[in-house]
Amino acid sequence: MELLQETEIDIKKLYESPEGTEESFEFELELPELAEDFVLNSVLQGKLRLMKEKEGIFVFLDELSLELGLQCDLCLEDANLKLSIRNKEREYFNKKINDKRLGGLDEENLFQIDLAKMTIDIAEFLREEILLAKPENVYCKKSCKGLCPECGQNLNLGTCECAESSKNAENPFQNLKDMLKEQ
Ligand SMILES: [Zn+2]
Ligand SMILES: [Zn+2]
Repeated sequence: MELLQETEIDIKKLYESPEGTEESFEFELELPELAEDFVLNSVLQGKLRLMKEKEGIFVFLDELSLELGLQCDLCLEDANLKLSIRNKEREYFNKKINDKRLGGLDEENLFQIDLAKMTIDIAEFLREEILLAKPENVYCKKSCKGLCPECGQNLNLGTCECAESSKNAENPFQNLKDMLKEQ
């Protein structure tokens, strides 16, 4: 299987083939244009298939795995997020689609074959799928204790005095009890 190392894919041969013809690829990509939206902690790895169809080329993203560098919502430390994306697809058209078939989809959001170069570019497709797969909340680990709301201490790294003093504040008779015990 051919290994793709860039997002622009030559479709000259496939485009001349009969409808239904498929080509399979593995890919291993470093995407500088993705770095504006994400910090990538790995290359993008996966498998995809292209299929010739009447109006262009179908791209089936069978597998995509990557690691994103994000920030933990609770403790604000770095959080490494592994993402695994499967079974997504896009259609790359061979001409401008301007009828109503697409149910109001924006024309600019449609992918097109670069007919001058006979290539398609999957960068934007991958970027969209990563954005959709990224969870809303990110934690460095399940058991993250976060920051102390009083002093900002990272509670994963150690405790602070605030917990103790607020316990005493909640229970004003504690000191009295202690005094009585001593007597
Ligand atoms: Zn955390
Ligand atoms: Zn504290």
